[in-house]
Amino acid sequence: MNQPTCGHCGYDLTGAESNRCPECGLLFIEAGVEIRRQSLSKSRRSRQFLVLGLLVFFGLSAAVAGMAYFRAQALRAQAIAAQQAALARQQAAIQQARQQSSKSNDQSQSDGGDRRERVSDSVGEP
Ligand SMILES: [Zn+2]
Repeated sequence: MNQPTCGHCGYDLTGAESNRCPECGLLFIEAGVEIRRQSLSKSRRSRQFLVLGLLVFFGLSAAVAGMAYFRAQALRAQAIAAQQAALARQQAAIQQARQQSSKSNDQSQSDGGDRRERVSDSVGEP
């Protein structure tokens, strides 16, 4: 796409039907016609770069957002799983401690809470 311009005033002659510049009135053979090809392709290229950059930017941001979303979801799932595992472990430990303390009534030294309860009971009795 070449853009003819008046060699005298630089007016854009695209679509000019006469052999005179509509801006300064000079004949084309007098003023000369310059073909502004480079600048146009440059601006077009810069616009293409802009569009490309925007596309890349949006694509990257979308990818980053998606990755962050999925990573957050994965992290949340991991955290929930770890929490549940810890909870299950805790409950199992508590159950085990309870079973142990109920099995060995008098000699239970490991379970402090149970012992304190018993101590307070024995204190409250008299
Ligand atoms: Zn002109």
